[in-house]
Amino acid sequence: MSWDTIHYDLFAKCACGKGKVIRHIERRDDDWNRSETYCIGEEIECSDCCNKYHIEHVIHHYYCPPWKGDGISDRAFLVPNEIKMPPRKNEHYFVFSDIDEEIVASLSLEDIKASIDDMKTNKYTTRLQLESSERIVDLYQGRYRKRNLKLITPILEDIIQNYNKYEWTHDKMIEYRHKEKEEIENNKKEIERVIEQSFELEFRRG
Ligand SMILES: [Zn+2]
Repeated sequence: MSWDTIHYDLFAKCACGKGKVIRHIERRDDDWNRSETYCIGEEIECSDCCNKYHIEHVIHHYYCPPWKGDGISDRAFLVPNEIKMPPRKNEHYFVFSDIDEEIVASLSLEDIKASIDDMKTNKYTTRLQLESSERIVDLYQGRYRKRNLKLITPILEDIIQNYNKYEWTHDKMIEYRHKEKEEIENNKKEIERVIEQSFELEFRRG
């Protein structure tokens, strides 16, 4: 398999309108008609704007089916030199190495206790009464591809015994997410404020 590499430039108007901003693009095509493009550099070609502004990007990842795009929105701006675009804050993605940690983070102690009773009383996953029990079974299945209550209840009993050792309890998680949500909101506002004082670049060919 071989790649064909071509280079070309895109152009955008600068903020004052007397010059332009150039984006250098490298595109690689393979034998299967797949292509990838990369931005390999951007330059402000305007004697006024290059002293007043620098280029910054606001990159946002979002869900998008593969046939519609890559799920990345990348907006470029000429930002006045006195200010800076704050880095975008995203939700923290927790990775728990063990199933018990994941259960403790996902459900309250009361729900875990109630689920043990539910599982012992009803014995089969198809007869469970509580949403929290279903949730626990789903978490277990996600890791071990099994839905066996006989394997799950001992884990829950162990959790109750050792509840104090867990760092990320459900309550702490709720508090964390609440604070994080506020921080993300503030970060969005800060980015909006910088965007309001900046000039958005619209790149096109030739
Ligand atoms: Zn200019």
